[in-house]
Amino acid sequence: MQKRRFYSVALLLLVTLFSTGCAEETVEARVERLHKKMFTIDTHSDFSMWLENPDGDYDVKGGQVSFQQMHDGGLDAAFFAAYQDQGPIDPEFHRFAREYADTLILLLKQYAEQNSELGAIATSIKEMKALKKAGKVSLFLSIENACCLGDSLPLVQYYYDQGVRMIGLTHNGNNAIADAGTTKIKLHEGLSDFGKAAIAEMNRLGIVVDLSHASRDATLQAVQVSKTPIIASHSCVFAVRELSRNLTDEEIVAIAEKGGVVHLALDAWLLRYGPDYSAASLDDFMKHLHYLIDLVGIDHVGVGSDFDGGGGLVDCKDMSEYHNLTKRLVEEGFSDEDIIKIWGGNFLRVFEEVERYAAEQR
Ligand SMILES: [Zn+2]
Repeated sequence: MQKRRFYSVALLLLVTLFSTGCAEETVEARVERLHKKMFTIDTHSDFSMWLENPDGDYDVKGGQVSFQQMHDGGLDAAFFAAYQDQGPIDPEFHRFAREYADTLILLLKQYAEQNSELGAIATSIKEMKALKKAGKVSLFLSIENACCLGDSLPLVQYYYDQGVRMIGLTHNGNNAIADAGTTKIKLHEGLSDFGKAAIAEMNRLGIVVDLSHASRDATLQAVQVSKTPIIASHSCVFAVRELSRNLTDEEIVAIAEKGGVVHLALDAWLLRYGPDYSAASLDDFMKHLHYLIDLVGIDHVGVGSDFDGGGGLVDCKDMSEYHNLTKRLVEEGFSDEDIIKIWGGNFLRVFEEVERYAAEQR
């Protein structure tokens, strides 16, 4: 009897120890499990200009983006922008912009081809999921500053056929499509008529509309005009860091009410007040994230690093350090479901809607 009781107590102790051990998943194990299970998507990076001119004298850091770094950081997909500086709105510049965009897109395709053991170009959610299954990362093509369209509507189809699945309407200067957020000159009071037609064409074809860098009027009008939800691929919150480049509450609410997503950039100057930008960290990022979630909820937030174009934090320096962001979300008590939404679930909802609308038009 005594012996049997001893064995019963020992067994109970063992079962308790075992079950406690299972319940307490470490932070690292949870981060690893999440990255295997979820789709992680970064909606903005500027790698292409480094391919075009590796020795370029840019005022931003490079070396933060590659297929290998995506693998190391557990990132499944990223939008690689063909970025363009704004020039005069005339035929000569439009021709140059188109040639430059074509060159960057070609270089990105060559990069994917040369690194095909690690990743490939993707043009749909289906292709991205298949690549993840095959252990590869996805490169989505996008355009930052649609000046390469000039004022020619058929060029939207041209870039769609090239594989482009997201177009950012402006950069830091007005173009034939829309006014930029960082200039005081209101050329169109928001969107031009051509800009409205270009958005309709993006909707018809299945291209995500990106409003980062656009003026407040342009953003609010685009939300109204677009038949599908829109996103800001790399912006932060004006109420936390007052800058014309960051989104006001009115813009954020409008984007969210349409079902869109605000993807927070990892740019120090968008996240915090200077002068000590070099100290910018995930602490600053989290202040913007919490503000957004309090304002519009968990369904309208995402990540768009701006790596190779100005992004980079002391504790998330490049794509290989993305586990640190997931770790921070876990440590702050976010549920698995919420982390999956932030990392790509919300963007996939928008992209699915964009693909579905385009399919209906065919
Ligand atoms: Zn940008």
